[in-house]
Amino acid sequence: MNSPVNVFWFRRDLRLNDNHGLFEALRSGLPILPVFIFDSNILEKLPEEDLRVAFIYNRINTLNTQLEKFNRKIAVFYGKPEVVFAGLISEYSIESVYTNHDYEPYALERDNSVSNLLKSSGIAFKTFKDQVLFEAGEIQKSDGTPYVVFTPYSKKWLEKMNAEGVAHYDSESILVNLLDKTPSAMPTPAQMGFSISMSSVYDPEIPSALVKDYAESRNFPDQDKTTRLGVHLRFGTISVRECINEGRKNSLVWLNELIWREFFMQILAHYPKVVNNAFRSDYDRILWVNNEDQFKRWCEGTTGYPLVDAGMRELSQTGFMHNRVRMVVASFLTKHLLIDWRWGEAWFAEKLMDFELSSNNGNWQWAAGTGCDAAPYFRIFNPYEQAKKFDKNEVYIRRWVPEYKSAAYPSPIVDHQTARIRCLEVYKTALKA
Ligand SMILES: Cc1cc2nc3c(=O)[nH]c(=O)nc-3n(C[C@H](O)[C@H](O)[C@H](O)COP(=O)(O)OP(=O)(O)OC[C@H]3O[C@@H](n4cnc5c(N)ncnc54)[C@H](O)[C@@H]3O)c2cc1C
Repeated sequence: MNSPVNVFWFRRDLRLNDNHGLFEALRSGLPILPVFIFDSNILEKLPEEDLRVAFIYNRINTLNTQLEKFNRKIAVFYGKPEVVFAGLISEYSIESVYTNHDYEPYALERDNSVSNLLKSSGIAFKTFKDQVLFEAGEIQKSDGTPYVVFTPYSKKWLEKMNAEGVAHYDSESILVNLLDKTPSAMPTPAQMGFSISMSSVYDPEIPSALVKDYAESRNFPDQDKTTRLGVHLRFGTISVRECINEGRKNSLVWLNELIWREFFMQILAHYPKVVNNAFRSDYDRILWVNNEDQFKRWCEGTTGYPLVDAGMRELSQTGFMHNRVRMVVASFLTKHLLIDWRWGEAWFAEKLMDFELSSNNGNWQWAAGTGCDAAPYFRIFNPYEQAKKFDKNEVYIRRWVPEYKSAAYPSPIVDHQTARIRCLEVYKTALKA
């Protein structure tokens, strides 16, 4: 029989330092086999050139390069996690599998199946909090119910953080405890059905100067002065605890955004119905117009509303859109076009590099007025005013819509005032019913 090992399973925590689960595994006393699985259940649904798959692939390659100095490597598989684990169980003598908590509905289901499989072979499944500072259930009202309004949630969150501090897990200093065995080669993108360009994904630096300026500059898409750490928080290429410490030191406004992230995560955990339904049930009665042609024009960025079109083109071309513009395009889709927020949410989910189910859903429901602590439905962004205020020299618009103000630029697909009045009527009727 092989000598015993423990496994560390990387998922959305793709870093070697300040990784809680990895740290616990590395000090467990047994050599650690590090594993990553390209999950075919997820990958089968993605387009061939998915930017997120490219990011993950390149990141794993970079981690393996970082591990070369210890002569260690992550074992990488493609397949269904239960099948991969069945294979590992037959190849190794595994005592425990270590991993970090993962909260989305599919992840919970997957972990439940893997945990049952391991249990049936006498293997422990040990999981740790890493993706957030406080998970669902840790920040509750005094009567034990979840917060559904952000401000009191954030107050309690800050109190708890100040009382307990922010941990650091020095996993990097004990990487020598990884198993000294070269695993077989990583599956190629082509073997998994993907076509991606190869690059390196290094550990990101937190841009402290941007964070310090964040309160003043975050709203101006032409300046592009947000940190772009969303994708790194999504895949764990940066530690959220490091980001929180940065926010404490340099910008409470920026820290507040990280609290929004955790707020929406706990909403999804406590109210999983939000994946398919409005948080406030009476908003499920809205009679959406759902014009497919107008939806197509919104997706491709040819609505004739320049700020909306600029944002939608930025998204398609780069996988990113500035937050101010995300709010404007989401409000425009749901309120001016009366298209179901779920359509917009799905488009963002397909395109955003930083796609996060809880944040995407929470923000879409916020924009549509259907969510917890949402903007009131009668607050309808005027895309022209938003452009005047936040892109006053039209730098952002011209960057993404070069034909703006030429004959080639389309006229608006709806009139602002008419659309506004129609929206108010439709929402009012639904809420009265
Ligand atoms: C309609 C809509 C959909 C969105 N979908 C997503 C999504 O799928 N994934 C996602 O991470 N964010 C989403 N956001 C929130 C926000 O737009 C992005 O987090 C932000 O633009 C990412 O840019 P950044 O990394 O430069 O963030 P910064 O502005 O530098 O903020 C730092 C981090 O704080 C978090 N954060 C910031 N704003 C929010 C917010 N409003 N809600 C939750 N977390 C926030 C993110 O993790 C972000 O990376 C959405 C917003 C809207 C209006």
